[in-house]
Amino acid sequence: MPRDQVAPDARTDLAAFAAARDIKYFMISFTDLFGGQRAKLVPAAAIADMQQDGAGFAGFATHLDMTPAHPDMLAVPDPASVIQLPWKPEVAWVAANCVMEGQDVAQAPRNVLRRLIAEAADAGLHVKTGIEAEFFLLTPDGAQISDEYDTADKPCYDQQAVMRRYDVVREICDYMLEMGWGPYQNDHEDANGQFEMNWEFDDVLKTADKHSFFKFMTKSVAEKHGFRATFMPKPVEGLTGNGCHAHISVWDAPGEHSRTNVFAGEKGDSPTAELGLSEQGKHFLGGIMKHASALAAITNPTVNSYKRINAPRTMSGATWAPNTVTWTGNNRTHMVRVPGPGRFELRLPDGAANPYLLQAVIIAAGLSGLRTQADPGKRYDIDMYAEGHKVRGAPKLPLNMLDALRGYDKDKDLKSMMGEEFSAAFLKLKREEWNSFVSHFSQWEKTHTLDI
Ligand code: ADP
Ligand code: MG
Ligand code: MG
Ligand code: MG
Ligand code: MG
Repeated sequence: MPRDQVAPDARTDLAAFAAARDIKYFMISFTDLFGGQRAKLVPAAAIADMQQDGAGFAGFATHLDMTPAHPDMLAVPDPASVIQLPWKPEVAWVAANCVMEGQDVAQAPRNVLRRLIAEAADAGLHVKTGIEAEFFLLTPDGAQISDEYDTADKPCYDQQAVMRRYDVVREICDYMLEMGWGPYQNDHEDANGQFEMNWEFDDVLKTADKHSFFKFMTKSVAEKHGFRATFMPKPVEGLTGNGCHAHISVWDAPGEHSRTNVFAGEKGDSPTAELGLSEQGKHFLGGIMKHASALAAITNPTVNSYKRINAPRTMSGATWAPNTVTWTGNNRTHMVRVPGPGRFELRLPDGAANPYLLQAVIIAAGLSGLRTQADPGKRYDIDMYAEGHKVRGAPKLPLNMLDALRGYDKDKDLKSMMGEEFSAAFLKLKREEWNSFVSHFSQWEKTHTLDI
């Protein structure tokens, strides 16, 4: 946003915002249970009413647990989230909260997150996260990596290859600079055709909105340049997949009011204190560890997600994805890494994670850990890929989506923290998706069973 303009907030009048910036259309956008972004394009002339009442949607037509008989679901814009599209300034995107008959729709992901943020705030805790949303640039049909020369067997940080996609990367990074996100580095990642762009961490709702917008922006800019961007967890067999690591810390206050990182602790001699994590940081981490096998249903929500975790070695030499519920210091072979004092990195989530549910489940598991004073267990300072067999008793991550859904269903504490209504809706739709997958007749079956 240009420096002379004030940042939008909850009181921003969208009609005035449009008039000041020559915006013709608003994209009123909400996110469904599968992470799909759904929007209506509303002319600026109609935004005043829509800001009050919301835009109407038939919930059943999206991935929400509703029937065609349900009344209209209204997506009410949150004006604090509005962003004028840097690549199409006559349009502005605004995240919306779903309401039905005057009530927040409990299963709607942004509402799930808002409720958990409020719950954490009641305990004086304000979670901030930074995410690393890796993606591939493919040909428009999605069949191949877009750059035919990008074939190195160790392509991470490849200088030539990142420059061959400079026009795309620079355009996205320029937009992040313009929006004031504090982007600070861009690179070619560990798979051919894969990139990562990093921007500064923020309050979880802001990070979730930025994560959603980043996906929309990256896909849009890639399309403009004749490519297709994908965040699919494992788009190319044998290559490193798309992670979406989350770096987590907890503060005394939100936004610019935060002063103290509650996770930053005096250096001591416990396994967490040695790394500069406070007692609260330890228990929050304990909650993540305790609920890991269940929260995978949210952080790794697709059939394809399980081709990324528990995967065999990739062509580059490592998957960089975890297989086991273990944690460590600055070592990238475990599910959780503590890269430095006052924060930890959850390496489990992948590119299919719903931006709102990802943040919600981090808070839910962390709060549960704080309440129960959960212990993260033993710290393993080993190369998990080479020496994982030495670890006894650490739970394995789910092997497939059905295992993860069952794990989530069994975790009563996490289910109730995420909300019973949300959890029931999520499990119902995801089970239907699993059933659709297993009823799909595959070539593998024929190859392995034909001559039996
Ligand atoms: P790496 O690749 O080493 O895991 P990146 O630099 O790609 O790390 O991403 C680090 C992310 O962590 C960034 O979004 C950064 O802003 C964020 N981050 C840094 N410090 C904190 C913190 N205290 N709390 C939450 N996120 C943080
Ligand atoms: Mg109609
Ligand atoms: Mg990174
Ligand atoms: Mg990366
Ligand atoms: Mg990382």
